Amino acid sequence: MKVFTAISELKEFLKSGRISAVREGKELQIGLVPTMGYLHEGHASLLRRARTENDLVVLSIFVNPIQFGPNEDLDRYPRDAERDLALAEHEGVDAVFMPSVEEMYPQPTKTKVAVAELTSKLCGATRPGHFDGVTTVVSKLFNIVAPNRAYFGQKDAQQVAVVAQMVKDLNFDIEIVPCPIVRENDGLALSSRNVYLSVGEHESALILSRSLKQLEADVYSGQATTVMEARQQLMQKIGSEPLAEIDYVEIAAFPGLTALQETNSLSSELKAHGAILVAVAVKFGTTRLIDNVLLTGKGEAIHV
Ligand code: AMP
Repeated sequence: MKVFTAISELKEFLKSGRISAVREGKELQIGLVPTMGYLHEGHASLLRRARTENDLVVLSIFVNPIQFGPNEDLDRYPRDAERDLALAEHEGVDAVFMPSVEEMYPQPTKTKVAVAELTSKLCGATRPGHFDGVTTVVSKLFNIVAPNRAYFGQKDAQQVAVVAQMVKDLNFDIEIVPCPIVRENDGLALSSRNVYLSVGEHESALILSRSLKQLEADVYSGQATTVMEARQQLMQKIGSEPLAEIDYVEIAAFPGLTALQETNSLSSELKAHGAILVAVAVKFGTTRLIDNVLLTGKGEAIHV
């Protein structure tokens, strides 16, 4: 496994890989897994999927300052390069790209990539500028690595929708592969930020996966709950946890994130739209967690 901190050296490595493949009459298939590090099983699942579908797997680890707001956790974001490299090696990664902030942004960037509409909702409403930071850094990574496929977790469902829209709009020749949410045994969606949680907050946060799972079961069992009722029930369940401070509970069509007919049943809206995202963002203490369930009609693959 090679580790790169310089953009030019990573590009050189990928170029020589592509040339060798062409000499053998093949086209090198490259899979990119962009992360902010402090890797866990969720990241590992993306790496494994990338490993099965590509000749070469590139993992990027970069805590991207421009996607953090002024009062967010940039400075305390957890980091452990040594452990990350061991996990990457274990998952058969070929190249790790872990640039410094100076390498990625030698001067403050004057160019930003911004996706409209999709980014003003859900997390975009409470984290202004966040998705511009994401799409800008992802564009840079796409240009640096030029992968055939890029792997993103459905845990960040809005991010998947935004990046897929960007790829379509800007004609990136890259397949966006959404991957399912990986959870702890107790249901909590894995996140690097879970280390911030106290034992009590962790216990409290289980309300997110429990209430989303319940809603999913209700819809699939044919209950005629309306969109409005479903949102209210979620708000009420999550709100009943004393440590929970709700940022949002949203139900929207996926991947367009357009509003639904509030008085229609969720199942009829699901038929009309094909996929519906139920997404929540809730603070426990100082830690903001997100979780979601994507309703697709049982067992159907996600298309973005
Ligand atoms: P992050 O390092 O948090 O920016 O995440 C990097 C990638 O891993 C993103 O595409 C995330 O959606 C994905 N990811 C994070 N947590 C999970 C999880 N629990 N299950 C699946 N994918 C995840």
